[in-house]
Amino acid sequence: MDVPALLRWYRANRRDLPWRREVSPWRTLVSELMCQQTRIDTVLPYFDRFMAEFPSPERMAAAPVERVLELWSGLGYYSRARNLHAAAVALSRLGGFPRDEQGLRSLPGVGPYTAGAVGAIALGLDLPVVDGNVERVFARYYTVERPTRAWIWTEAARHLPRGEAGDYDQALMELGALVCTPRSPRCLLCPLRAGCKGTGEAERFPAAKARKVVPRATAIAAVWRRGGAVLLARRPGTGLLGGLWELPGGEGSLDEVLASRLGLRVLRADAVATVSHTFTHLHLETTVFSVDCAGEPEARHYDEVRFVEESTIEGMALSNLARKTLAAAGLPVKASGRALARDTHAKELAARR
Ligand code: SF4
Repeated sequence: MDVPALLRWYRANRRDLPWRREVSPWRTLVSELMCQQTRIDTVLPYFDRFMAEFPSPERMAAAPVERVLELWSGLGYYSRARNLHAAAVALSRLGGFPRDEQGLRSLPGVGPYTAGAVGAIALGLDLPVVDGNVERVFARYYTVERPTRAWIWTEAARHLPRGEAGDYDQALMELGALVCTPRSPRCLLCPLRAGCKGTGEAERFPAAKARKVVPRATAIAAVWRRGGAVLLARRPGTGLLGGLWELPGGEGSLDEVLASRLGLRVLRADAVATVSHTFTHLHLETTVFSVDCAGEPEARHYDEVRFVEESTIEGMALSNLARKTLAAAGLPVKASGRALARDTHAKELAARR
């Protein structure tokens, strides 16, 4: 593999990204966690906001995790935000970043990939990284249909140029993102073309993985308004969407859910919208009801429930699903995805109650 050509290509063509303009272990850690499973365009404004408020691990460690979740709101995969806060607390106690791979991997939420990225890019350690882009480049370069992770790590390490791991790792990832793309790879522009076995049939490698069938489920969410406020609930701190605010609800009928989770009796309910949302493990269809209830809400299932002024909801720690649901109910929140079939199936929805 012509690694010098790869490095030259990277240095001439790399994207101008904020965490590349100024490099530090903290900025690399934050950017790497944000970029996992997430498009760079989406990450950019979040990264700037995080650096403005948390320019160091100590600043984040001094803030409650709730504030980190608020700023993370809309970015998805919220365990990353909780892990980042936990890592900041650990770093603050340590008094700085560990200087070796083992120490980096002892930080919460830091696995081999993130340790490799922070170690190579920001600390000058000779560590490889493997992500989906790197996997694709090696699978094509050697025309391997079903490469194992262990094989890719071995190949990435075998070609690593000592003292230049940071650029090498980023070059492989950048090549996969910009040139050796999943569809229509641009082999004519590729610095690895001369030695690549996959040229001409690149899209065959790696072989497509069998699609997982994502199970489907239904749920309800309740909008109870009082004056200019609406009832919101904060989920328990651990588990799916832990610590985030949402409209109260869950799987089951409206009456059962509000009785068991909040101790409320439903007096009136009108179906106002349906919201579809796909997690990695589940496709959820939520029916949103506008309700009036008897009783005072109790946090039986949640960490906290309270009526929140509608104008302040946007700044809260909300999941993407909560954003879609709140927007579907007409509350002043930006939904981060296409969501809604409002009002159109009201009769059908009411029947599900
Ligand atoms: S020559 Fe084509 S298939 Fe080979 S690494 Fe480059 S872009 Fe990928």
